[in-house]
Formats: sequence, structure tokens, C-alpha cells
Amino acid sequence: MTENKLPKLYIVIPCYNEESVLPITAPMFRKKIEELVAAEQISADSRILFVNDGSKDRTWEIIQQLAKQSRHYSGICLSRNRGHQNALLAGLMEAKDQCDITISIDCDGQDDINAMDQMVQQYHEGAEIVYGVRSKRETDTFFKRFTAESFYKVMKWMGADTVYNHADYRLVSARALKEFANFKEVNIFLRGMFPLVGFKSTSVYYERHERLAGESHYPLSKMLALAFDGITSLSVKPIRIITTLGVCISIVAFLLIVYALVAYFTGNVVSGWASSLIATCFLGGIQLIALGVIGEYIGKIYMETKARPRFIIGERTDDENGAE
Ligand code: UDP
Ligand code: MG
Repeated sequence: MTENKLPKLYIVIPCYNEESVLPITAPMFRKKIEELVAAEQISADSRILFVNDGSKDRTWEIIQQLAKQSRHYSGICLSRNRGHQNALLAGLMEAKDQCDITISIDCDGQDDINAMDQMVQQYHEGAEIVYGVRSKRETDTFFKRFTAESFYKVMKWMGADTVYNHADYRLVSARALKEFANFKEVNIFLRGMFPLVGFKSTSVYYERHERLAGESHYPLSKMLALAFDGITSLSVKPIRIITTLGVCISIVAFLLIVYALVAYFTGNVVSGWASSLIATCFLGGIQLIALGVIGEYIGKIYMETKARPRFIIGERTDDENGAE
């Protein structure tokens, strides 16, 4: 690596109906870029890349005005609202061939912009992915904190392991993004997928603030949808749970069968009770196991259709000496 070539940073920011907050936060991001340039951490042609996610308000006009103001601002506009994850992905894929590092962040000023210094520092120390992790959630309401924390716990239990309290505030190198581009799946859950890319990664901690203006676009319903997408796009554990349940019910059924037979032969039962109980329990258990087994195959097909890369090459021997 050459010492004197500073990395070019793109800050990627998805925006949906953010006309009230964008004029406040855009200059903050620009100031951060200028500070990092002055501190000789990033190159002077670093920029902010806004992704307008089909906003219905004046967001895109504001972005266009900003882009005229300074070469540090740029933007892309999606054809329609595709949701936060898709908007962010669009921005990252746009940025990956133009810069050396990206930092993704929301445009509402909730995530501490100053954590970027540390992120870039970690990049200079060799990390390809740096996760921004919330150290506290005091500014969130109790309900938001409770639902968000349950979210990570349920996700983990369901086999979608994510970095705890990390949303989408993250530094990713262009190199990691180029590998990430090979993850062709349509159901995306970025924070659960980046750990799958590998490479050296680390976390930096920051405090999350309240939104500077406007309202959250992540009500409980969207959060549940995100959790469901996260689980189903990362794991087949729900299918395993069905199989396990089937086995458990079958065991219970077996015990009940023994009990019913004993009761039948000792003669203190209504006629027909033993046979119907046995049939119901037995079939219930068998059916669940059968569903689980079918599910396992569907799970395999599901994983196959994702056509994810089976490996990612981290380094090659001739990388170092720059052989042609
Ligand atoms: N966002 C987006 N498309 C959407 C919803 C949200 O691009 O359909 C953006 C939004 O502009 C913001 C970020 O995603 O920059 C996070 O949204 P928000 O702050 O509303 O969520 P919260 O922080 O409350 O979870
Ligand atoms: Mg927010």
C-alpha cells in the first residue's frame, strides 16, 4: 500500500421524504468531509452520495440544489420508493467503483457523525468493514428500545446473527463491496449479510440521538417486516423448529399411546377413546415431521436459488510485490 495516497470516501445516505431534515444535516456531513480532508485522513475529492428513495416531497429538488452548491454533494434518484435497504444498496453499488471507502448513514442526524473519524481510523489500521454500534439507547422511547432490543434477540435465536445494536451505520471498503456485489439475492438484509462477506472487521461505539426533524419511517409494522425478512433471508431455522416440534409431539404421542393402551386393557375407558386418541396423536406427530422434512428440502432449494458466492478470496501471494 502506498503511504501518500489518501482513500476517497463516499458517505452514502438514503433519503425518503426528508425535506425537513436534509437542509440541517447535509451541511453537517459536508463539514465532516472537510474536517477529515483537513486531517489528511481522506482525499479531497471525497463526497456525499444521497439516494432519493422515491420521495413524495421536495427531497430530490433539495439534493439537486446541494449538488450545484458544492462538488462534495452528489445524488442518485430511484425510480420509485423501494425501501431503506434497497435504496442503501443502490447507493453502495453506485459508489463501489468510484471510491475506496463508503460510510452508510441515515440522513436524520440520529447517528453520531463524529464516529466517522474512528471508522476511518480503523480503516487505516486495516479493517475492511467497521460497524457503528449504539452504546446506549436512552434517547429512544421505552417502547422503541424494548421492541428494538427484542428484535436483535429474536433474530439471533432464529439463526440470523447480526451485530448487536448495529443498524446501517457502517464503513465498508470498496474491496468488500465488490465481493458483496456477488450476493445476488433479492431479499436483502444488509446488516446480516455484511458479516458473511468476511475480511477484517471491527466496531466503533457511539450514542444515538433523537431525530433532528421529521418523523421515523420505521414504525413497528415496518420493523416486524424487517425482522421477518432478516430471519427468512438468512436462516432456515424456522423449518428446523417445525421438525423439532414434530419429534417432540411424536414422543408425547408415543407416551400417550402407551397410556391409552394401559387404560384400555385395565378397562376403565369409554369405548373408542383409546383408538381415536392414538390415531390423532400419532398422525399429528408424523405430519409435523413430514412437513419439517419437506421444509428441509425447500430450505436447501431456497439457499441454492440465492446462488451466493461459495468463497471469497481475501488475498493472493503476488498482491504484495505487484507482479503483473
Ligand atoms: N428511508 C428510505 N426509504 C424508506 C424509508 C426510510 O430511504 O422507504 C431512509 C430515511 O430517509 C432515513 C433512513 O432510511 O435516512 C432511516 O429511516 P428512519 O430514520 O425513518 O428510521 P428509524 O431511524 O426511525 O429506524
Ligand atoms: Mg432515524
